[in-house]
Amino acid sequence: MTDILEVTDLEVTYQRSIRALHGVNLRVAKGQITALLGANGAGKSTTLRAISGFIGLDNARVTAGYVRYFGEDITGLQLPKTIHKGIVLVPERDKVFTNLTVAENLEVVSTTRAEGSNWRQIEDEIFVYFPRLAKLRNKPAGLLSGGERQMLAIGSALVCKPSLLLIDELSLGLAPVIVDEIIERLRDIHARTELSILLVEQSAAVAFALASYGFVLENGKVELEGATQDLRTNQKILELYLGTG
Ligand code: ATP
Repeated sequence: MTDILEVTDLEVTYQRSIRALHGVNLRVAKGQITALLGANGAGKSTTLRAISGFIGLDNARVTAGYVRYFGEDITGLQLPKTIHKGIVLVPERDKVFTNLTVAENLEVVSTTRAEGSNWRQIEDEIFVYFPRLAKLRNKPAGLLSGGERQMLAIGSALVCKPSLLLIDELSLGLAPVIVDEIIERLRDIHARTELSILLVEQSAAVAFALASYGFVLENGKVELEGATQDLRTNQKILELYLGTG
């Protein structure tokens, strides 16, 4: 299987001296959903920021290692160049413009799209993926539930036509019923588009519901990886993430 993304021995340092990643190695196979698991502070968000070019905004630097995308070295490539290459991040916080309506949120993001596309067509496409958003199109995003905002954030990312979608904490703070709906929507989007997705999750159950392969990050290093069907029964995972074992 071809890898769309290869991260090799990646080190990231904040403020010149705080080393957050100590040589991360991971891959995302083309057309697959891959999960990145790990405890708080393990370095999941930093990894996604380094891949997506958000990193310079946070006084952080890649100090060693490589990020390769479709075989091309893109280490240290910054926004918006990463977006133009098709790498789009749904961040953990500040996902949507709360004072704009759902439709306006999607419209604002559409200006980043390189080719001139019909705005209505883009909007309709996103509403097919998230029918719930269609009903909310004129509502300010600040009045949406957490789950609806997450859908809007993913929808906004899809407006950019990603080849690789990075999602930071898909389910964090959301009610289980809406998490199930988001999982179902993402499965549908994945089936329609064969989008490659790297999903950061604190819930192993959510990660396993979506991903075919997973990596477990501990203290800035990948300590475990495997097909999710194998990770599901791994003793360490059972103890750490599923509260059993
Ligand atoms: P969480 O789920 O809590 O966000 P995480 O696995 O995403 O955890 P990161 O946010 O990537 O972990 O943090 C990895 C390490 O980098 C932590 O030790 C954290 O304190 C440090 N770190 C993160 N952001 C910064 C920053 N802006 N300045 C300095 N250190 C930072």
